Amino acid sequence: MLNVPPPAFPAPSSQQRAAAGGRSKVPLKPGRSLMDWIRLTKSGKDLTGLKGRLIEVTEDELAKHNKREDCWICIRGFVYNVTPYMEYHPGGEDELMKAAGTDGTDLFDQVHRWVNYESMLKECLVGRMAVKPIAAPKEISSTLSEGKKQLNGMLPEKKVLASSAKDLTPSYDWFQTDSLITVVIYTKQKDMNEELVIVDCQDKRLRGEIIMDDYSYLVEVDLDHAVSEEVAVNIAEKIGKVEIILKKKDNIHWKMLGQPWGCHNTFVKRTDRELFYRKCKLVSKTEVTHDTKLFCFMLPKGTHLRIPTGQHVYLKQIITGTEAVKPYTPVLPFLPLDFQETSHHDGVHIYLMIKIYSCGLFTQALDHLQIGDYVSVSNPEGNFKKSQVQASEDLILLAGGTGFTPMVKLLNFALTEVSCLRTAKLIFFNKTEDDILWRNELEQLALKDERFEVQFILSQPTKDWVGKQGKISSSLLSEFVKRSRKDSKVLICICGPTPFTEQGVQYLKNLGYSQEEIHAFTA
Ligand code: FAD
Ligand code: NAP
Repeated sequence: MLNVPPPAFPAPSSQQRAAAGGRSKVPLKPGRSLMDWIRLTKSGKDLTGLKGRLIEVTEDELAKHNKREDCWICIRGFVYNVTPYMEYHPGGEDELMKAAGTDGTDLFDQVHRWVNYESMLKECLVGRMAVKPIAAPKEISSTLSEGKKQLNGMLPEKKVLASSAKDLTPSYDWFQTDSLITVVIYTKQKDMNEELVIVDCQDKRLRGEIIMDDYSYLVEVDLDHAVSEEVAVNIAEKIGKVEIILKKKDNIHWKMLGQPWGCHNTFVKRTDRELFYRKCKLVSKTEVTHDTKLFCFMLPKGTHLRIPTGQHVYLKQIITGTEAVKPYTPVLPFLPLDFQETSHHDGVHIYLMIKIYSCGLFTQALDHLQIGDYVSVSNPEGNFKKSQVQASEDLILLAGGTGFTPMVKLLNFALTEVSCLRTAKLIFFNKTEDDILWRNELEQLALKDERFEVQFILSQPTKDWVGKQGKISSSLLSEFVKRSRKDSKVLICICGPTPFTEQGVQYLKNLGYSQEEIHAFTA
């Protein structure tokens, strides 16, 4: 096993990352975009220097390749020659060099575990590690590998755990009637809610994931018999019991639930769980502005997925043979003006407001999708917690361009469910008037709800613009970011281009706001 020396991997904590507004990207030289990289990998050029041979790499051998011009990195047991990739890496050469000659799995997972390096670097594959380096287990508990044991209604035998960990570990059971199969998950946690339960049941495969703070519990089996496409999820919130109810296709008695998958019945850190994707159908695409569209995707039948406020999903597409993944933040189908209703999602559709960049790799491919085409959509991620806004009296939202997207659900949640909320203010930075997303809707909301106020600030206005102009700055923020009362509880959320977010956080700190009062949305 390769142990990664801590000083070489200064992994930022989520707080540090939030404060820094996310990991900085370095400007890439012309001709070094992702598309250029894909072209290079398809050019037939020998990118490993091994003329197509794959070798077994020892730890000693790996350690020798630790220079910029000869840099090998091990990721999940596979060794890649990343020297040709250096100039194409959005995080910069220095970032890659931190893992030179070592096992970079942890570093890569901490930074962008959603990027499929196996696909991106497939032409750089040198070979496998002679002894597979496995990162130290991070589970607080997990069951023994169950192999292909049949699940016959009895709880599988568990690894003996320390009693405290054992007490925390969820468990499951299943039972049946003539027509139904019910899988019951005992989470042993109060305040379960439907955002914490993700179920996918397609083609006889059942995957039920329960999110419990930073941990995830998974039930994953190939069902013994076919079930219908409808899946119901019942949650007994107070006792933390989750029922997944499946309809048998044939009314026969099942002898077992099915065959477990490798990660079945495990309880691990969320960051150690591979991101799960399901294929969603594009059902509509509507213009929001000259370059931004609202995409509506439909979840497959048998999926229960609610994306929590402030979290994003990853979309995955194969673009000229290479898997490409980008994060997007779901919004609502429209900006609700009536905050009596608590829910504006039907549980079936996901709405994404996406700006199409004329030279953007991913957004160009998205824009070319036809209604009825499919895109893979991941489980949600993100470190925003609703509890951050639940006690707020003043909510201030600073958005730059599509950095508006996380603010949509956040605003809806605050105005609907935060009873102590006194004011909500959106300060929305855009280049021109034409770039303002949902301008009419925001203005109407401000007229309708006296707690809400919106301020548009343009950095490149035409001379007709009579509103505020400028870029994010200390003076603009000191003018607009204010508490409604001297000691009121405030939450300031900021999202936009990384430098916008970084500068904004710094200005806010200079104005005396504490780290706890600021939330920066970053990758
Ligand atoms: P690329 O091929 O990566 O870039 C091509 C060109 O487009 C660049 O040279 C640049 O000129 C321009 N460009 C690309 N990305 C950016 C950028 N991020 N900022 C400024 N200019 C850029 N975008 C949305 O539209 N809606 C969302 O809801 C959304 N949510 C996000 C959530 C998170 C957590 C993060 C980190 C990003 C989010 N983004 C969102 C941005 C999105 O992930 C992509 O970066 C964006 O769609 C561009 O992808 P692309 O492949 O088309 O562009
Ligand atoms: P944009 O139109 O380019 O810019 C929006 C506003 O931000 C403009 O006023 C612009 O002013 C300003 N701005 C841009 N770069 C700046 C900088 N370096 N310093 C100060 N101000 C700056 O924005 P966009 O194309 O919509 O991009 C939105 C960004 O938000 C993307 O980077 C996206 O990745 C990010 N985003 C993040 C999340 C998340 O959760 N992390 C969610 C959604 C979107 P100028 O005239 O100076 O350009």
